[in-house]
Amino acid sequence: MSDASAARPPGIAVSGGRAWLAVALAAAVSLACEGLQDRLIERAVARAQAVDRSEWLDDGALHVVLCGTGSPLADPSRAGPCTAVVAGGALWIVDIGPGATERLLLDRMPLSGLAGVLLTHFHSDHIGELGELTLQSWAGGGRREPLPVHGPPGVARVVDGFVAAYAQDSAYRVAHHGADVMPPAGSEMRARPFDPPADGTPVIVLERDGLRVTAARVDHAPVTPAVAYRFDYAGRSVVISGDTVSSPALVRFAQGADLLVHEVLADGVLRVASRVAAEGGRPRLSKIATDVIDYHTSPGEAVEVAREAGVGTVVFSHLVPPLPGLLAERVFERGVVDDGRMDIVLGEDGMHFTLPAGSAETLLESL
Ligand SMILES: [Zn+2]
Ligand SMILES: [Zn+2]
Repeated sequence: MSDASAARPPGIAVSGGRAWLAVALAAAVSLACEGLQDRLIERAVARAQAVDRSEWLDDGALHVVLCGTGSPLADPSRAGPCTAVVAGGALWIVDIGPGATERLLLDRMPLSGLAGVLLTHFHSDHIGELGELTLQSWAGGGRREPLPVHGPPGVARVVDGFVAAYAQDSAYRVAHHGADVMPPAGSEMRARPFDPPADGTPVIVLERDGLRVTAARVDHAPVTPAVAYRFDYAGRSVVISGDTVSSPALVRFAQGADLLVHEVLADGVLRVASRVAAEGGRPRLSKIATDVIDYHTSPGEAVEVAREAGVGTVVFSHLVPPLPGLLAERVFERGVVDDGRMDIVLGEDGMHFTLPAGSAETLLESL
């Protein structure tokens, strides 16, 4: 190993260190001044207010934002599963995992335009922040009507539970700010159940302002029913797989979609983790690591589903297990055959896809 400090002219490190210390001290002293604090805060608030994603509500394009690309396993850089879709003048949220509400707020998503939540199934990582999202879109977004929550049979039980858990909070806020500012109905939710056939035939969940949302069953047994959603708007389309094994029903459902947001699990890594846990005398963890492999999809399989469906771009989400940047890139490309006919994207929180109407383009930026 080379010693960089040995080649450095004498004195440089010391004077550089002193300069840095002087700057830090000056900043600390300046920040003690309340006037400067206020100016910095004013500037930050103005900067935040200048970001207005509500423009997306009526620009005619289909927008997709990854508001959570993680899983039930803790990951400092990924919230739990969440995909936001802006279409037909409204915001729709598919699944709302732990940490996803904060992601939506930090990315300044237009919660005032939230028209509904769509749940793929009721594993905790997909529903954990349903109460928090409802609260934030009411208290911050100003919603005056109950929030519709669509899902397969069982959704009413989930909604009733969250409404009960947040009932006291809602009452406090109405009492504190008044019903004009906090209309009580806006704190509530309404379950909107639908029941797609077991053979994978899609059902229409809603049609509104040029947007059609359909759902089809996928295979996440023993979790049943579990569904995927498809949004069609202005000739563009996105499919969100939910949790599933590689599924022929999903191939049919995603046929010709512009974008497929597909869950992935790095099965090889889970097998290594299971073996290490077993060798370390932790049979329970070893069994769980093995069990989860059989109801998810490997990256290679997800790309095959996308290829057979003829989609334009496949985006990996719900990444299991959590891995740091470059290692994730390498691990989640294992088994992937890239023939160059579609774009393959390793999803990250805050990714924004724009699908303009009357175009075949899919534009990607990070918020
Ligand atoms: Zn699940
Ligand atoms: Zn999940």
